[in-house]
Amino acid sequence: MSARAGIVVTGTEVLTGRVRDLNGPWLADRLLELGVELGHITLCGDRPADIEAQLRFLAGQGVDLIITSGGLGPTADDMTVEVVSRFCERDLVLDPGLEAKIADIVTGLMARFPGVDPDAVLAANRKQALVPSGAEILDPVGTAPGVVVAGAPTVVVLPGPPRELQPMWDAAVATDAVQRAIAGRVTYRQETIRMFGLPESGLADTLREAQTRIAGFERLEITTCLRRGELEIVTRYEPHDAAVYSELLKVLRDKHSRELFSTDGTFVDDQVATLLAGRTIATAESCTAGMVAARLTDRPGSSAYVAGGVVSYSNEAKIELLGVDAALIEAHGAVSEPVAEAMAAGALRRFGADTAVATTGIAGPGGGSEAKPVGTVCFSVALADGTFLTRTSRLPGNRSDVRERSTTVAMHLLRRALTGDR
Ligand code: ATP
Ligand code: MG
Repeated sequence: MSARAGIVVTGTEVLTGRVRDLNGPWLADRLLELGVELGHITLCGDRPADIEAQLRFLAGQGVDLIITSGGLGPTADDMTVEVVSRFCERDLVLDPGLEAKIADIVTGLMARFPGVDPDAVLAANRKQALVPSGAEILDPVGTAPGVVVAGAPTVVVLPGPPRELQPMWDAAVATDAVQRAIAGRVTYRQETIRMFGLPESGLADTLREAQTRIAGFERLEITTCLRRGELEIVTRYEPHDAAVYSELLKVLRDKHSRELFSTDGTFVDDQVATLLAGRTIATAESCTAGMVAARLTDRPGSSAYVAGGVVSYSNEAKIELLGVDAALIEAHGAVSEPVAEAMAAGALRRFGADTAVATTGIAGPGGGSEAKPVGTVCFSVALADGTFLTRTSRLPGNRSDVRERSTTVAMHLLRRALTGDR
């Protein structure tokens, strides 16, 4: 048994990229949690013929459930309910109870806009009280109600604004029609592993080897992706295959103990935040221009341990704000491990912190040389006990890639320094 679904995201503003689709990914996560397999997310503008074509396509794929987003408003370009009604071969009927409910909401809203003609607005909103006959109605969060039309497939129609769609989802799932449509769902477990410092090809080799060694490997659904220089490995399996997953985890732990840093899905940022409890950290950044500080301050409670940071782009700033010795810059260049260490030490002093991280590198075009090409970045973590952990990396990509990757390297260096895993 299984249950399959498809999502139709509508809206010309989403189709053209002016608004980034938040509903497709959000609904995809919810379906995954429910154990419903998502086959497709399709995207089209506000044209009825296009919306209908997508419904037909998904129905042709044999999905049990279709969810639509958008096009429930009072204006003429909001046509989704009408299209779904036709597609499901239901008449569009006025629901008097719903009409009264919408009128109440609208009257309340109109108190804030005294110049508006209430009759015209109520007439426009009457359209929102037209529903496919026999449909289950989902109470409006804004002014637009959602509807659920039972059938093969069952269709759930939700409003476009994420703040309206999201609260309506639980009510949609609770309806008899949706429960019947997803009756065949299978609950999966999902585990996320993260690694740093291993190329994707290295992981691919290990997975090939695991395939030959682990019985039942083919029952694990493994997806890997590279994000911000880290490998994310997401595995889905049915509960009775938990032992197969444990075998996989063991293989990955044995082969990549140094690179594997998370087996519970936690991000390096979360781990560093935990490690910094009771400490004080300061940053000294050149090429990353405050991006490391931004990541450090992105966790709840970070004001307890982040003291502050210095962005020291010019040599003068490194000398004056961080006390880096001019002779050191002269001797080794601003992008060098000795200067990275001096910056970290300077940040420790300047903020009276017990932990500091420094970055100095060449992120952009024009700044490189043969010895230090673009992407060369030096990192140093200094601790109050006098230990330094210092590295130089050659990072690929354009300026924003190099800067982004640099923040990831800095976070991992911090993690290693604070766990004593040097
Ligand atoms: P309204 O009553 O606001 O018109 P609606 O259900 O008709 O609601 P749309 O007209 O499709 O929804 O979209 C209204 C607004 O909601 C869009 O302009 C956009 O800002 C936001 N929105 C719609 N769909 C999405 C989406 N998939 N992802 C993110 N935002 C969206
Ligand atoms: Mg609209």
